[in-house]
Amino acid sequence: MSSLFIGGSWRDAADGGTREIRCPADGTPVATVAEATADDARAAIAAARAEFDDGEWPHLSEHDRAATLTAVADLLARDKADYARAESLDTGKRFVESEYDIDDVIKCFRYYAGIGGTDNGRVVDTGRPDAISRVVHEPVGVCALITPWNYPLLQTSWKVAPALLAGNTFVLKPSELTPSTAIMLMRTLSEAGLPHGVANLVLGAGATAGAPLTEHPDVDMVSFTGGAATGRAIAAAAAPTVKRVALELGGKNPNVVFADADFEAAVDFALTAVFLDSGQVCSAGARLVIEESLHDAFVDELVTRADAIRLGGPFDAAAETGPLISAEHRAKVEAYVAAGLAEGAKLRCGGERPADPELADGFFYRPTILDGCDQSMSVVHDESFGPVLTVETFRDEPDAVRIANDTAYGLAGAVWTQDAGRAQRVAHQLRHGTVWINDYHPYVPQAEWGGMGQSGNGRELGPMGLAEYRETKHIWHNIDPRPQYWFARPESR
Ligand code: NAD
Repeated sequence: MSSLFIGGSWRDAADGGTREIRCPADGTPVATVAEATADDARAAIAAARAEFDDGEWPHLSEHDRAATLTAVADLLARDKADYARAESLDTGKRFVESEYDIDDVIKCFRYYAGIGGTDNGRVVDTGRPDAISRVVHEPVGVCALITPWNYPLLQTSWKVAPALLAGNTFVLKPSELTPSTAIMLMRTLSEAGLPHGVANLVLGAGATAGAPLTEHPDVDMVSFTGGAATGRAIAAAAAPTVKRVALELGGKNPNVVFADADFEAAVDFALTAVFLDSGQVCSAGARLVIEESLHDAFVDELVTRADAIRLGGPFDAAAETGPLISAEHRAKVEAYVAAGLAEGAKLRCGGERPADPELADGFFYRPTILDGCDQSMSVVHDESFGPVLTVETFRDEPDAVRIANDTAYGLAGAVWTQDAGRAQRVAHQLRHGTVWINDYHPYVPQAEWGGMGQSGNGRELGPMGLAEYRETKHIWHNIDPRPQYWFARPESR
């Protein structure tokens, strides 16, 4: 399968290796793609390096690069249904959710196209008529873009769009589980007129196809989205060559509900917060932190509704959410639930695979609620990344903030209350990169996304998401140079 895209050509893996992609909803074969070797990854780096050092892309005006991003967005809109179908087959997620994701991908390209050429650096006052000082932006260079399987093209677009706008070249390494839309994106970028060698694609396992990208001296930057353990390994691998490293890692996100919250809305959003895409969302509200007095009524209602969630494959119109990505991932989720129960959590619903024989070939797991939880439990402080909600209670506002911040992560969280003053106080005290008030999950490409603590160290989207891919250079121009005679003035010799 010629599915590696290197220097503008489609290639097989150097050793002919392939990987079969199967739909997690029912195991049907989706595609057979190349499984890159480390040599393939190095060839992709060489292509990106050559294009950065000798090609025209880094030297185009940002307006011209923005025009290419607009062309990409238009082509994505034309091909939206094909992209969404491919995304659903790879991930098992509902087709309608994949359509939303592709809409968001298009918005991301349009957003960065829209801000192209609007920030031209700045002129600095030198205090001298004979000197001009400018601070300018330049591309970082060759970027390694490494992405996960849960929002394959969306996470990719958050990197590709700003990296291209800033004038970089790149090697993309998507998750080995979900390569299809990355392959399609390479075709779309070429159709939009991107010069050969600017965008390169390697597919395959992280340890083989990904690791060389993080170590190689010709790579200037690694932008990674994925799990915390992988992020730590990548940061360590990039350290000897002092690469710029941007990490978007996991989260263990609190959804804090006060007793005065709008009950109906808070219950509804608490379900979406955690069970959207079967919990395989980095910002999933997997920790319900609820005021003691509201606990019983709220959790009873949650359990009733969670129990009624319909599972199914991507094209099942009645399905409300889909499968987990793989058998291994489901086993990990099951282990977290088992550990939680062993540590004293109470199972209120789920905790098992669905009995429906039609779902037996997929990696489904029923929406699960564990009550009576606390921070000593691994299911509370580790990211299970599955449809598992843990419930903790709080007494008062300081207690709520303490519990919500009692995590090594800091990606996202929400606070539910009808007291606007309290909402703002709590939002400001939460140590999380995104805080929603009386809502959960919305984001816009204009606003930065990223984590505090061990959720990462960079920001994607917004102006900062572009700054990640820019070098800043100060250019000082002395337009009337005269000797200073700091050392050994001629008359003193
Ligand atoms: P993962 O860490 O297993 O893999 C992510 C990517 O890294 C894959 O492409 C993988 O092949 C690659 N990789 C693995 N080992 C590597 C190595 N040694 N060198 C280079 N590359 C390597 O993550 P995943 O299971 O694909 O994704 C789920 C995780 O992603 C969750 O923790 C989730 O929270 C996180 N995530 C975070 C965000 C965010 O915005 N913060 C968004 C989506 C997902």
